[in-house]
Amino acid sequence: MEDKALIPWSEVSSWSCVACGNCCVGYSVPLKADEYARVAQRYGFNVLDFGLGKVYLKRGQNNRCIFQRPTMGRWICSLQGIKPLACKLFPFRIHSKPVYSKGDGSTIKYMGKNFNVYLDPACKGVISGKPSTRFYNQVLPEMIQIGMGVTTKQRFTTSKYISWKPP
Ligand code: SF4
Ligand code: SF4
Repeated sequence: MEDKALIPWSEVSSWSCVACGNCCVGYSVPLKADEYARVAQRYGFNVLDFGLGKVYLKRGQNNRCIFQRPTMGRWICSLQGIKPLACKLFPFRIHSKPVYSKGDGSTIKYMGKNFNVYLDPACKGVISGKPSTRFYNQVLPEMIQIGMGVTTKQRFTTSKYISWKPP
């Protein structure tokens, strides 16, 4: 998805993951060094792809991430406890500058710092409109915290269809 299609957060009413599983198909999920180490320690090296100095999660049948599992008509990630940052952030994109232009509706101040937040409209859970209270007060701050590395826990930004709870 090209950045020009991104929606500034101020034009989004709400977002919730409906566990359609589409974001786990066809993408190469890059792993940071600590993520790569954790995945390799638990599942071995056969679940990883190596290329050009980067490590990715392997894709399997139908180009799906090999950690995706069909569950009661939905698609659930079986890597919940150690889900990579790239997956946690989707469909959010957090930048330090506007992608389009100043005043494009993406700027938000959090903990004294400006962020430029957009959502990828390819996600079925993105609903356009005036930001809801929940979206503004809970979802957005949690995503920014995850992006900053302040937290790894997802209370408001994970699918309600997932039964896994953080330890
Ligand atoms: S984040 Fe969006 S695209 Fe991915 S599974 Fe959830 S609803 Fe579907
Ligand atoms: S790790 Fe989980 S969320 Fe990320 S692509 Fe694989 S199944 Fe999807």
